[in-house]
Parts: sequence; C-alpha cells; structure tokens
Amino acid sequence: MKVKYKPDTVSVLVVDDEQDIRDGFERILTRIGFQVLKASRGDKALKVLSDTEVSIVLLDLKMPGMNGMEVLKHIRDLDVSILVIVITGYATIETAIEAMKQGAYDFISKPFDPDQLCIIVNRAAERIRLARETERLEQERKRTLVDLDTEKSRIHTIIEYLPNGLMVTNSRGQVVLMNPAVRQLLNLAPDLTIGNQIQDYLPNKELCDLMMEISQGKYVDYGDIPDYEFPLSEEKYLLARGQPVLGAKKECLGAVLNIVDISEMKVLDRLKSEFVAKVSHELRSPLSTIHEQLALVIKDTDGEAFKQDKHILSRAQEKTRGLISLIGDLLDLSRIEEGLIGQEPKPVQLELLLKDIVSFLGALAGAKNQSITLELPQDPLPRLMADHLALESIFGNLITNAVNYTQDGGKIKVEVDLAGINVRVKVIDNGFGIAAKYLGKIFERFYRVKDERTRYITGTGLGLSLVKGLLDSMGGFIDVESMPGKGTTFTVLLPIKKG
Ligand code: ADP
Repeated sequence: MKVKYKPDTVSVLVVDDEQDIRDGFERILTRIGFQVLKASRGDKALKVLSDTEVSIVLLDLKMPGMNGMEVLKHIRDLDVSILVIVITGYATIETAIEAMKQGAYDFISKPFDPDQLCIIVNRAAERIRLARETERLEQERKRTLVDLDTEKSRIHTIIEYLPNGLMVTNSRGQVVLMNPAVRQLLNLAPDLTIGNQIQDYLPNKELCDLMMEISQGKYVDYGDIPDYEFPLSEEKYLLARGQPVLGAKKECLGAVLNIVDISEMKVLDRLKSEFVAKVSHELRSPLSTIHEQLALVIKDTDGEAFKQDKHILSRAQEKTRGLISLIGDLLDLSRIEEGLIGQEPKPVQLELLLKDIVSFLGALAGAKNQSITLELPQDPLPRLMADHLALESIFGNLITNAVNYTQDGGKIKVEVDLAGINVRVKVIDNGFGIAAKYLGKIFERFYRVKDERTRYITGTGLGLSLVKGLLDSMGGFIDVESMPGKGTTFTVLLPIKKG
C-alpha cells in the first residue's frame, strides 16, 4: 500500500546527491506548505515513489549511480501524472532541454534563487490541483450520467408496472408516452402505438377536450382541473385526472393523464346506497305505525291519572318523529346517489313553489313568534327547468333550518332575484349564526354544530348535505355567510336552462 496524503496536499520529492541542496529545498518548500520527501540517489528516489504518493519530483540530473535522465525515464514509465522539475547547472542547460523533451515539466538551475524555486514549484502544484479538479469533475460527470441512467430506468420500470394508466401528451395533444395499464384499462387495439392525437385513445369527447385544454396551458392553477369520471361499459368505470407538465420556466409542455379503475368502488357505493335504502325502507313503515299509534294513545289519555304517561308517550312520539325524518333524509340521499332525484327536469314556477313553502312553514315560525317574508322581483322570473321535488326539499330544508336556529321573535326573509344566467334565492335569518370554524363542515353528512343554543334542537345533520347533493346534481350552487349572534344567509344559485 502506498502512503497517501489528504487530497489537497501536494507532496514534493527532492532528489539530489548534495545534502545542502536537499535541506535547502526542504526548508523553503515546507515553509510554503508542501509535504517534502528527500532522496540522495536515483534508486532511492524510485523506492520512495513506489511507497509514497508523490506529485512533484525535483530531480538533479547529475548524480552518481543512476543519472537523472534515467530516473526521469523510470518516473515517466511509472506515472505520467508526476511532474518532474529538473535541477541543472548553467553548463548543462542543453541537458535540461533534452530532459524537457523527455517529458520533464520544467527546470531550475543551480545555484537556485529561492523565489524562483517557489514560483516554479507553485506553478507545478497549481497544475496538479487543476488536473485533480478536472479528474474530480470527470468522475462526477460519469457518476451523474450513471445516476441519470439508473433514475431513467427506474422511472421507466415504475411507469411500466404502475397499475394506474399513465399517458403523457405534448402541447399539440399528441400522445408521447403511455404505459401498458392504459392499453388494458381503455381496451386499446394492440397495434395502436403512441404518436396519434389524444382522440384516438380516449373514448370520451369531453375528456379529450379537457386534455387538449390542459396540454395547451389553459389551466394555470392545478386546483381548477376537475376530475373526470366516465363509464367504459356497464361494469367498468374509470376516473381520469389530468395535470399540466411544466418546463423550467413554468411554460406548459403538455399534459399527463392518470387513469384509475374505480369499478369496484362504484359497485361498493351502489351496494351501500342499496343497503341504506333497503334498511331505511324496512324501518320506515313499522316506525310510522308506532308513531300513529302513539298519537292515538296520547289523544285518548286525557284523564288526570294518565298525565305522567302522556308526558312519557309525548317524548316517545317526538323521538319517533325524529327517526322518521332521519330515515326520510337517508332515503332522499340514496335516491340522489342513484340519480333518481333531480334527473327529470320539468318547467317550474319558482315564485309559486316558494310561496307554498313559506306559507306551509309559516305555522312553524308562528309557534316561535317569528316572521317569514318572501321578496320577489317585480318582473316575473324566467321559467326554470328543474325537479319540483328537489327544489321543495332544498328550500324546505333551508327555511326550516332558519326557523329552528333562530330565537323566538326572530325574522326570516327569503329574497329572490336574477343574477346573470342564474336565479338567486337568499334565505336570510337574524338567528344564532354559525362560527366561522364550522362553516366548512355543515354541508358534511351528519355534521351538527353542538353548542348551548343548538344542543336541544332536534335534527339529523343530513339536511344541508342533502341540499348540496341536490344542487350539485342540477348544476346549482350554494354558499353560506354567517355571523354568530347576528344571523345567517344561505345563497342558492339555480341555473336557468332553456327548454
Ligand atoms: P340539522 O339541521 O338536521 O342538524 P343540517 O345539515 O340541516 O342538519 O344543518 C347542519 C348544522 O348547520 C345544524 O346542526 C346547525 O348547527 C347549522 N345550521 C344550519 N342552518 C343554520 C342556520 N340558518 N342558522 C344557524 N345554524 C344553522
């Protein structure tokens, strides 16, 4: 094993038969930071070179035994990267030139000037450092190339074996990459290779249009890109999610489409809805019977002795009413999921529908000394194409909530106007309000705000999720603004569809 120095150390071997010269060189070179080794003869120098890593050799040409030119030849054979600076007398300048021809790096004449020695050796050291740096960069480049190659083949393998379909288009919407899963998911013909327009691969026009728009950079914000669900056959459902591929300057280079098979999820969802519908259905009739029977018993138990029983029965009746309404909501929800509600739009006169609901719920509000007013625009509203039952459910829920979550004597207002291509309905109350932290949650299923004022109000937490589900299915929109202690406004937008 050779003795090695730290990478930034430059070691110098001084080969000279004169001890004074050796010691003089050592003193000067050590002072300016070199690691110095010495040898008094050529054979000893070669021994040092075989044992120790040396970068520069200061070589006297005139030595007893093996002369400098011979040593130079051996050194060149041993390692061409070692820089040899020959030491010559004035008289032997020709020999120095000869030595340079044989591969010596430079020469210094005797008697030497210390400054000149430093300049020559420093220059050689600089060259060594540059050579080392070049070598290091070369190694790094090779490593990076190997890394890139490994990375490329790793990514290739991942993409090839991904269970999800992955498709990449360029900015003109041509498919430049797709993995085997795409073929399998979309049942593509085996001879359909990459290179065609996206339409040749995707069965759905809307999805193709979306992919073209993404490929051409029309979507800046990733969050704006909708997921796309589509059936491929009766049993096969796919979910596609597109994203732009951006270059270094954020320019759009194309799009990547991720396709997932969601058929099993769909089946599970259907089974779940069917189960909820079935269970709800089974529960509803016995419960309704119990509810009615309770009503009968309560009516008949007027005598003093029955007062206590009547109280208990009334509470039982209240609970059954709650359960019946929960079951009703669950049934409505599963009908929305099955697409049974909101799917058959018919012309609706919204003014009439709202008047009916307001007058029907007026009794509920009256019991709490609340007022409900309906404000309609001067001009008649355009005819809406919607599902009547769905609209009843939406506004019935919103106005019932306004009554429930507003204190006795409060005010409820329903305002209707036109807003561009929509009819806008606001249900405004001056009731309890909802704290900002709950506003994002109230549309979730079963979510109810529980605080001192709402704790004793019966409800299922399904009303608003039902409202949102219905509006989504008919292309509508709902928003809420609220201030605790001041009141709440729900704003509904209903699209005016021609028909
Ligand atoms: P439920 O009324 O059956 O509890 P909803 O889904 O209709 O369920 O409403 C969810 C929650 O939102 C309610 O529990 C209530 O806390 C809150 N909320 C709904 N409407 C109003 C309103 N107009 N004012 C204050 N809080 C409301």
